Amino acid sequence: MAAKLRLEDKVAVVTGGASGIGEAAARLFAAHGASVVIADIQDTLGRSVSASISPPGHCTYIHCDVRDEAQVAAAVALAVDTYGRIDVMFSNAGIVGSMAGVLDLELTDLDAALAVNLRGTAAAIKHAGRAMAAAGTRGSIICTASVAAVQAGHSSAAYTITKHAVHGLMKVAAGELGEKGVRVNCVSPFGLATPLVCGALGMSTEDVERVSSEAAVLKGAVLRTEDVAAAALFLASDESAFISGHNLVVDGATTVVGTSLH
Ligand code: NAD
Repeated sequence: MAAKLRLEDKVAVVTGGASGIGEAAARLFAAHGASVVIADIQDTLGRSVSASISPPGHCTYIHCDVRDEAQVAAAVALAVDTYGRIDVMFSNAGIVGSMAGVLDLELTDLDAALAVNLRGTAAAIKHAGRAMAAAGTRGSIICTASVAAVQAGHSSAAYTITKHAVHGLMKVAAGELGEKGVRVNCVSPFGLATPLVCGALGMSTEDVERVSSEAAVLKGAVLRTEDVAAAALFLASDESAFISGHNLVVDGATTVVGTSLH
């Protein structure tokens, strides 16, 4: 008997879907029956990921800078126009930006991180939430926060501040959109080797994987983008139908014990 498709007939938008966690989620969502719109600013990469997603015809790419609310609205509209509806918004695009601590932080660098991480997420919730509410869809919005959303002690003040804000935004949105039958949750990964982290720390994939595994409390596994995508799939699917306002931390028990790596 064929395995049940967990997102059969659903339509998802994935911001930051050209790379890393977003790419893994776009592939996994499509493999579970969803039609997917990848919204990103890396056009060549995004188109190539979209074209390679299986089954064919279930993924579309759109250039979407989440700092521009109109472009986020256009990504949601593309999902509705192309596939007829929107059930899932995975608001995942993010940057690290300045690695400065609070005392050295240029406030323009804080603005830059806020524009992508917080304003981009607010725009995604607003426009996906409006479309879901207007259609009476019991949708699911998932925001990628971070262990830096629940714990200080990370090297980048701007990143930590903005991810705490994403966590707060999720709670506000879960309260408001719950009235309309729409769920809002966060997924919060520990450190894993993607261009975002390798670039911010100036480290190779192998070095990030080694440092992350050494810092993680849970031993014997390396955190991969697919692990975070699997958590997002659960929150996107009807298996989590009564879970809203939750932050699903994917960190191998690390934040509860207190170790930190971004
Ligand atoms: P990544 O660099 O592989 O992917 C980030 C994607 O976001 C890229 O495709 C990039 O082009 C896109 N992006 C950046 N700015 C954008 C904008 N203005 N508009 C649209 N797209 C934009 O990195 P990743 O690690 O997969 O990051 C995904 C999310 O996971 C981010 O929100 C990040 O903060 C979060 N996160 C990552 C880690 C980690 O260790 N990698 C840990 C916790 C949280």
